[in-house]
Amino acid sequence: MTQRHDVIVVGVGGMGAATAYHLAERGLDVLGVERYDVPHAMGSSHGISRIIRKPQYEDPAYVPLVERAYDLWRDLEAKTGRDLLFITGGIDAGPPGSEVLEGSLESCAAHDLEHEVLSAETVNERFPGYDLPADHRAVYQPDGGFLVPERCIVAHVEAAHAAGATIRAREPVHEYRHLDDGVRVETSKGTYEADRLVVTAGAWAAKLLPALEGLAVPERQVLAWLQPTEPTAFDADRFPVFIHEADDGHYYGFPRHDVPGFKFGKFNHREETVDPDGFDRDPEPADEELLRSYADRYFPTGAGPTMQLTTCLFTNTPDNHFILGRLPDEPRVTVGAGFSGHGFKFASVIGEILADLTITGETDHEIGLFDPARFG
Ligand SMILES: Cc1cc2nc3c(=O)[nH]c(=O)nc-3n(C[C@H](O)[C@H](O)[C@H](O)COP(=O)(O)OP(=O)(O)OC[C@H]3O[C@@H](n4cnc5c(N)ncnc54)[C@H](O)[C@@H]3O)c2cc1C
Repeated sequence: MTQRHDVIVVGVGGMGAATAYHLAERGLDVLGVERYDVPHAMGSSHGISRIIRKPQYEDPAYVPLVERAYDLWRDLEAKTGRDLLFITGGIDAGPPGSEVLEGSLESCAAHDLEHEVLSAETVNERFPGYDLPADHRAVYQPDGGFLVPERCIVAHVEAAHAAGATIRAREPVHEYRHLDDGVRVETSKGTYEADRLVVTAGAWAAKLLPALEGLAVPERQVLAWLQPTEPTAFDADRFPVFIHEADDGHYYGFPRHDVPGFKFGKFNHREETVDPDGFDRDPEPADEELLRSYADRYFPTGAGPTMQLTTCLFTNTPDNHFILGRLPDEPRVTVGAGFSGHGFKFASVIGEILADLTITGETDHEIGLFDPARFG
């Protein structure tokens, strides 16, 4: 007999785990289906740390969402007894007029966020791992920090389990079909039916939802951890997480945590659009050279021998804003996709929003920026 549920969530990564939890917590019978392990390192939610920050240079509209996300992460910590969120303070830096600096200031002003504007000299004195050039400036915001993404997924799945959800790993969804009264999902191991479907398939979203072709585009990323020559300068109590607009693009970085190195990466890395099922996951010398050249210039005491390199996937939309909502021609399907390299910090609130949208089609959160119909 085909199993029937209230909702099936396809993809139990960062967003799917949160969504399964919020749906189950509201009393729905939820099945989450994941093609790899829970958690795993093949998608977008691995690599030990993800920045969370209140200023949102991308658009001030994200600030109320991230504030709610902080509360939900703390709730999840209390519920599961796991440490998920570490506060280090956050730096948004760049030359005057740069997108990161001015956008960060705009969002601080729009939402009255506590912050300081620092010269490069002050940043470098106060946080000795940094070596920003004299003409750069920084917004320092004390609530910045990082999440541990694999632990966040585990915590959401544990909380979903506790609320009665069923999660099945190593079971790829091959396709789904609409029924008169719901949806039918075919996986590698069986057939399941539900009233509604949520697709949180990350870099694979367009493979399940052809309407997202060209709108949720996977991009190869590489992260580096380098051994600092002055290790204590990269400890979490002296090294705020950062977003930095350098001459050649936007970079982000973290204090030492769990890997013996200073971790950082470049947004969009080498701008390689890829098929998530067919790209080179092994970092190459050119990846390492690009990243090392950045550390040499801006964090020279963090640029010792390489400790680890890891590939990961962004899924970019044309405007780099998320896709959240029901698809125009598929009212039983809610999608959360296209998180464009800045989604993880929001995963807790995205779960809440996707649960709202799945149950009622509406949410009290302001999500106009993420309407799937905006691309026409
Ligand atoms: C290198 C890197 C650094 C980043 N840094 C930050 C940061 O500092 N701060 C921040 O906020 N964000 C950051 N991000 C972005 C953030 O990590 C992503 O936006 C977020 O992880 C996306 O979550 P997701 O659930 O959409 O994808 P995933 O976590 O990849 O989940 C999608 C899941 O769907 C599963 N799936 C796909 N197809 C199927 C199928 N057919 N059947 C079953 N399961 C399926 C996949 O296996 C996967 O588990 C970063 C991303 C990368 C790659």
